[in-house]
Amino acid sequence: MSEDDRRIEGTGTPEADWTGLESLPAVAPRELVGEGQRAVIVAPHPDDEILACGGLMLRLLEAQREVVLVAVTDGAGSHPGSSLWPPERLARERPRESREALQRLGAGAVSVQRLGLSDTRVAAQAGRLRAWLDRFLRSDDVVVTTWRGDGHPDHEACGRVCAQVAQSTGCGLLETPVWAWHWSWPGDTRVPWRRARRIVLTPDQLDAKRAAIAAHVSQLGADVSTGRDPVLPATALARLLRPFEVVLQ
Ligand SMILES: [Zn+2]
Repeated sequence: MSEDDRRIEGTGTPEADWTGLESLPAVAPRELVGEGQRAVIVAPHPDDEILACGGLMLRLLEAQREVVLVAVTDGAGSHPGSSLWPPERLARERPRESREALQRLGAGAVSVQRLGLSDTRVAAQAGRLRAWLDRFLRSDDVVVTTWRGDGHPDHEACGRVCAQVAQSTGCGLLETPVWAWHWSWPGDTRVPWRRARRIVLTPDQLDAKRAAIAAHVSQLGADVSTGRDPVLPATALARLLRPFEVVLQ
């Protein structure tokens, strides 16, 4: 798969075109993460944990499962060249937004491990991420991370490293598409649909996820200093606020 045909530009595939996903098999989170097991969410940037799997986190907590968030970077690279959101402001604000989002989700008790790797450079620091996970993970953990084919270099690096660690430690692995919803389309053969399972959310759970996303203020506004649109425009939010989430099992 070449990266060139998975561009994250423009508005991407509109949510209205994502028909047929309802036929993907639904799975209960309590079956994905058994009693006594930990769900370890490995999020490349502070917001991926909510965008990709906020609903899954909520359902796991409701099922009395332990959830740990591993924040790989502080997200300082989301606004290149911006004087409104320079890297040092992002590195300060985005972890704060993430904490606020967890509170709003109803997941304020989730423990957070912050690794401080460089945003946009996770692939170059894959060895550090892998070494940390090798120490931290238990063989009966279930790791949830971004899909290794997601089309964003940091997302793919997290997916690759977690897949390697899952293989060597024996822990479970679930991968989540985030930007794939932008560049892909229904039936796209680049996506391993046979591994896809739906996590169904109630209206209340979806409301909590919506409230949590709203905490990521830095990602939701246009940048007047660069003239750029929000990192998360309405078209992206529509895709990420479906009444279900999809994991690749
Ligand atoms: Zn991300």
